[in-house]
Amino acid sequence: MRAAEPPCRLILLAPLSGWSTPLDEVPDPVFAARMLGGGLAVDPTGSTLHAPCDGEIIALAASSHAVTLRSDAGAEILMHIGIDTVGLAGQGFDAHVSMGQKVVAGQRLITFDLDLIARRAKSLVTPILVMEGCGFTLVRSFENCEIAVGDVLMEIASSGEAAKGSNRETPDSGNQGSQIHKGEVRRLRVALEHGIHARPAARIVGALKTLAGEVSLVSQDGIANARSTVALMKLGVRKGDEVEVRAAGRDAHVAVSVVAAFLAGTHEDGGGSGEVRRASAAPNAGQPPVQISVESAAPPALVQATKTRAAVSARAGAALQGVIASRGVAVGQAVRLAAREIEVTRLGAGAAHETLRLDRARAEVRSRLAAARTSAAGAAREIVEAHLELLDDPELTDGALALVADGASAAYAWRQAIRAGVEGLRTLGDPRMAERVDDLLDLERQVLLALNGDTGASVAKLPPEAILLAEELLPSQLVALDAGRLAGICLAGGGPTSHVAILAGAMGIPALVALGPALRDISDGMPLLLDADAGMLHVDPGADCLAAARRQLELRAARLTAEREAAREDCHTADGRRIEVFANIGSLAEAQAAARNGAEGCGLLRTEFLFLERETAPSEAEQHAEYQRLAEALAGKPLTIRTLDIGGDKPIAYLPMPAEENPALGLRGVRTSLWRPDLLRQQLRAILGVQPYGQCRVLLPMITDVAEIRSVRAMIEEARGQIGRREQIEVGVMIETPASALMAESIAGEADFFSIGTNDLTQYTLAMDRGHPELAARLDALHPAVLRLIARTAESAQARKRRIAVCGGLASEPVAAPILIGLGVHELSAVPSVIPPLKALIRGLTMKDCIRIARQALQQDSAEAVRKLAVGLADRQSAPVSLGG
Ligand code: PEP
Ligand code: MG
Repeated sequence: MRAAEPPCRLILLAPLSGWSTPLDEVPDPVFAARMLGGGLAVDPTGSTLHAPCDGEIIALAASSHAVTLRSDAGAEILMHIGIDTVGLAGQGFDAHVSMGQKVVAGQRLITFDLDLIARRAKSLVTPILVMEGCGFTLVRSFENCEIAVGDVLMEIASSGEAAKGSNRETPDSGNQGSQIHKGEVRRLRVALEHGIHARPAARIVGALKTLAGEVSLVSQDGIANARSTVALMKLGVRKGDEVEVRAAGRDAHVAVSVVAAFLAGTHEDGGGSGEVRRASAAPNAGQPPVQISVESAAPPALVQATKTRAAVSARAGAALQGVIASRGVAVGQAVRLAAREIEVTRLGAGAAHETLRLDRARAEVRSRLAAARTSAAGAAREIVEAHLELLDDPELTDGALALVADGASAAYAWRQAIRAGVEGLRTLGDPRMAERVDDLLDLERQVLLALNGDTGASVAKLPPEAILLAEELLPSQLVALDAGRLAGICLAGGGPTSHVAILAGAMGIPALVALGPALRDISDGMPLLLDADAGMLHVDPGADCLAAARRQLELRAARLTAEREAAREDCHTADGRRIEVFANIGSLAEAQAAARNGAEGCGLLRTEFLFLERETAPSEAEQHAEYQRLAEALAGKPLTIRTLDIGGDKPIAYLPMPAEENPALGLRGVRTSLWRPDLLRQQLRAILGVQPYGQCRVLLPMITDVAEIRSVRAMIEEARGQIGRREQIEVGVMIETPASALMAESIAGEADFFSIGTNDLTQYTLAMDRGHPELAARLDALHPAVLRLIARTAESAQARKRRIAVCGGLASEPVAAPILIGLGVHELSAVPSVIPPLKALIRGLTMKDCIRIARQALQQDSAEAVRKLAVGLADRQSAPVSLGG
């Protein structure tokens, strides 16, 4: 694989504060026609011109109204203060530099008398140009926005580099031989747990839709058009593989960042809310957060039976071992789903006719899927979206249309195109990729049914408590079943990461896959006990066993219902300390889930998730409407709205960011907001307008010092004035950098409350990337170093009588609750589903126990030791219900 060439690119910072405008609006044809070079102009509100980058002064007008600087790489930047200002003969201008002088970015160059120039010159508008012929040209600029000195204003590149970037070629829809110019290249290791499978591939394709130019992904096995889901999947890229993302064209830089963010796992399954997912070495590896009150760690076998997997005949008393696809237990009767192959004829009735039929069938499936997408949420929605992408995949459609042109029928052509894709995936020999075959076959089936006039409206009838047995099951077949009667799923084939497995998990239906051929011997109606917690299917295990399992299930359900019921009440420890349990949300559906699960408010609304998949920034009115809807869904309970936390690991297409060596240490959170104050002002007005006043609080991400809070507070005051709101709003600060934890005492002087973001606090304290697959197991927020920072923050909060919350992933781990409470935390903001067991746990704790374990935790020398302590207390605290009991 070729190494990335270092791009010769340069960021120019705003040399003036004011409003940035396109050159076309400069009232001077020499500048407007770009005769001197490209760039933009600033209508100044400040009166000092600063250096936009490091360099040397190579020209300074005798009248000091214009200056040219050459950067170390040779870019020549001309700054011309006002139009026709040469006529002022130096009046009102003061130069602070001289010819040949070296300057650094931000250094003061010229001060000028704004009033005098405004009165005497044609215009104050100041062109900032990249000089024609210097070998650099403009890549992007930030026009039509308010800027302050030091904001990123433009990105320029050496002409060769920029020319490569703007060079367009006809995209090659296939994998091999696609020729891409290296406008922008990034190498990285793929962190996606299951490699590039259908959903990440589809999401990459979706995210690139709004961006121009060619994008390809290169692995050691080939090159794929990153706009084709099938081509991406066929690369067979796995977790840990090194790949190269290449892009050319206008949006090359953003395209590379977006693809890289997906591959880094930032947007992976279920990570939509950004909670930290703990990895293999942690005690709760791969599991949902520890469910102290309900689950037993390893349910003992339910019945004594033969547990061999191969060659087991499914007679009464047998037990088949499978692979867990969706956990849970079900008691019911066997219902077999027979496979039905759809017949197709090879010859068509003319290319035009068959093309039309295929287009219509695809359009019908597209509109069905689009309708399903509006009602689906989470993983189910992502699967529908992946199918939507596949439906228009250039590799599939071009392949099918070529066959139709050769005389094939629409159905035959579609099947052949799909089967070619299937073959490509199967030859990879990767079981996870082979599972993606199901998605293609599902799409084949959906289009063939549409070609046969099937409306897809019928829902298969099931008897009550049906445990479905099948060789394979496709996602569209699963969603066509009556979910109210479907108790469980058992497949002879399939894999645990298939879409049907994910769907089953999302629907809460226990499922086992890869049960083998013995499944065929189970006859319809046979009583079954599906123990998908232990990976076993018990065939007709006897009345006593079934009755015992039913009793345990009832007990478990009753306990869950009781916890949900009790979760409606406020939460206190056993000795009366009030602990608020809030929810983290990122959508209306999550706000509703929070309310259902007994959240006492929202401790963190990640506003970036509301507007992630857009081509343009949401308007103020759209934002306001969305926040208002969420406030209403919470029925008056507090709503903590975090201002946009973008940049770093959360790039968004409508806000191109400058290239950064270390995005996690670059423009992130409040820094991005202060860099684009126009966006922040809009957002603040949208939040301040939410009724009733007092329900919403503002939360600021990635704070490192008090100056940032003061800047935002000043903007809040301004926004309050603009919308005519008299009431104050509470302003909280996220403690997610070691700096803010160590400065908590002075920050408390500016903030009304603290909310600790343990995800980032852990990343920055341990200097371990939160998305790094190799380090995931060690990235533990229970590390004593992180706990000491939390303790210090809590002390400062106490001294200044400020409320302190935890909204990072640690708050969603019930096992950590006693330590956090013992350290002085008043509020835990967790994922909605954790709230009922979390409240139940807290009600069993005493402050004495919490303080004792917190003190012990601070004295430990590793995260493992702290976890051991915490799990020990949790085990003593809960009496799990065991299905085998
Ligand atoms: C955190 O860092 O803990 C946090 C809650 O913010 P996010 O995960 O959205 O970065
Ligand atoms: Mg954070």
